[in-house]
Amino acid sequence: MGGADAPQLRELAVLAQGCQACDLWKRGTQTVFGEGPAEARLVLVGEQPGDREDKAGHPFVGPAGRVLNDALAEAGIERERIYVTNAVKHFKWTPRGKRRIHERPNRTEVVACHQWLERELASIADEAVVVALGATTGQSLFGASFRVGASRGVPLDLDGRPVVATIHPSAVLRSRDAQERAAAFGGLVTDLRLAGELAS
Ligand code: SF4
Repeated sequence: MGGADAPQLRELAVLAQGCQACDLWKRGTQTVFGEGPAEARLVLVGEQPGDREDKAGHPFVGPAGRVLNDALAEAGIERERIYVTNAVKHFKWTPRGKRRIHERPNRTEVVACHQWLERELASIADEAVVVALGATTGQSLFGASFRVGASRGVPLDLDGRPVVATIHPSAVLRSRDAQERAAAFGGLVTDLRLAGELAS
């Protein structure tokens, strides 16, 4: 793994715009690359951009991004100081009427896009703690058998880099009632606090 190098990240972002390593480039508006300082002590990795992110070209700016911002604020972490990205850089969706409905990326797509995540991490400080938001991200980093539930609460090791696994913020939005939502949000905040402590 390398050291912090902002020009290297900018170069990667430009290169990734032309990526056709899987078929998702045909469906998405654009590659949505990671954003944030190369010297970040925390790297948050989601699954893939959603409808809003696909149009805006920025990660976590839609409804799940708002949940993430609330959880970060609750955990005492400033979003401006962290690097935010996704395991898969194009929006995968299926049409339902006029809407574009999120579709989970398959293993082939996750594996094809892993090269970009790996190169982002190689451009960010070795000590930075990674937060894997959701199962798809965990599977991108640790393999197809990864499960969030079995991996939460303790730091994981990715070639010497600490990783904290947690739910994807969209799971909070999918909660069936207020009680489930509060529990899901509280768990996300607890995991983010653990990552913040490891990074400090
Ligand atoms: S999803 Fe990833 S691997 Fe597939 S085309 Fe987009 S950037 Fe390339």
